Amino acid sequence: MDILLANSSPVQKDHKEIWKDCLTIIKKNVPQITYNTWFLPIKPVSLVDFTLNVEVPSEFFIDWIEEHYSTILKKALVSSIGETAKITYSIVEDKSEQLDLIDEIERKEEEKKAASKQVASGNDKRIFDPHLNPRYKFDNFIKGEGNQLARAAAIAISDNPGETSFNPFFIYGGVGLGKTHLIQAIGNQIIDRHPNKKAIYLSMDTFTVEFVDAIQNDSVNEFSHFYKTMDVLIIDDIQFLSGRERTQDLFFQIFNILHQSGKQIILSSDKPPKDLKGLNERLISRFQWGLTADIQPPDFETRVAILKNKSESYGIALSNEIMEYIALNITSNIRELEGCLIKLLASSSLNSQEIEFELAKKVVKEISTQVKTNISIETITKEVCSFFKLEENKVREKNRKKEIVLARQIAMYLSKKLTNSSLKTIGLHFGGRDHSTVIHAYNSIDHLISNDATLKETIAKIKSKIELSAA
Ligand code: ADP
Ligand code: MG
Repeated sequence: MDILLANSSPVQKDHKEIWKDCLTIIKKNVPQITYNTWFLPIKPVSLVDFTLNVEVPSEFFIDWIEEHYSTILKKALVSSIGETAKITYSIVEDKSEQLDLIDEIERKEEEKKAASKQVASGNDKRIFDPHLNPRYKFDNFIKGEGNQLARAAAIAISDNPGETSFNPFFIYGGVGLGKTHLIQAIGNQIIDRHPNKKAIYLSMDTFTVEFVDAIQNDSVNEFSHFYKTMDVLIIDDIQFLSGRERTQDLFFQIFNILHQSGKQIILSSDKPPKDLKGLNERLISRFQWGLTADIQPPDFETRVAILKNKSESYGIALSNEIMEYIALNITSNIRELEGCLIKLLASSSLNSQEIEFELAKKVVKEISTQVKTNISIETITKEVCSFFKLEENKVREKNRKKEIVLARQIAMYLSKKLTNSSLKTIGLHFGGRDHSTVIHAYNSIDHLISNDATLKETIAKIKSKIELSAA
């Protein structure tokens, strides 16, 4: 009986062996770089009946795999589990940034290095986790006009934490401009050069959640004591403090204690101190005691320099022409520049092709339309249904009538094409269907259009209506 229970799957092998078998098959069928990028990071977690559950680094990952490799994946699963094989995904960390992929790869490298270092030095001193991502360094932070002051100050602070007049150091600017990178670089440099200093990084959001926990567990004293013993306190996205009275009070105390004893405080925010709404005046004034520096969007030269640097580190060869094209068209932030490179990396490894100008153009177009339009899945649903004279909830119900299925698939197809939403999100909008249904819809419409000129025209018409109504 026990044996039967322990072996809950009808398949003889366990999840690890099954996944190993799958990898062997996949490896033979995809280019090496594809294998390394998309399959190696997958971790098998369990096998229940005929369903293999795996962990992936992000939702973007699931989308890519399902969109591009579902056939080979299915083949591998069927051959190692059987005809009824299925796969389900869970996400390791709940972040859906595309960069998780790169992060993940680099983090592994760093962990390996760190592990071997520790073995080498043989010391077992209590491990204190500063929550710093080793990916963020000064070395890979490109200098530009927009970040000059902030960067120079950050370097000065890392040399002499707590001993410059830049205390607190308050850095602000729009999304994706490098605030997190820069403040974490300070932390990394400090723990590197001043190993006896205790530095910790966290976002104000995390701080708030921890505080609420502490209140519930009656451990507010320990909580605040912990932060009061830091030499360097780095808090990201301080704007989350707004409207939270109790957190503000506690943070005020911690701030004062640290500041009085010459400990370094580093803060980031999406706006300058004076524009922070819902924040106590006494905090705002303290934020301005030290140095306030902004980060501006990068100019053209800086964008090109960033692309050069990053494409080299990802191992993609890009011509100057392509880099300039990207830099001319993606202007608002650095996260998008990176997103563009990662898409290029993914598409080129997919087709094992050199990156050509046409591909770059396509990717840039995808990214810039995603960013600039505010088309929502709701608008798409509305327009598709009005075109087919259907009530909107029809496409969300489990109705299999032919014309409803077609409308639903078109709406899913357009949602995938015209919005930034993940397959999972799209599925949720159409009655909680899963990502494979969305992919299936996308593929069938894609296939139909290539053979059916009328349908193609219909979809083009709907699309222009959607664009009009979202404009
Ligand atoms: P923010 O916190 O301001 O929203 P991030 O620090 O998360 O922005 O930066 C977004 C991405 O762009 C990160 O991956 C970061 O490494 C990269 N990045 C930002 N600024 C630079 C820079 N000057 N040089 C190189 N990479 C940068
Ligand atoms: Mg940030």
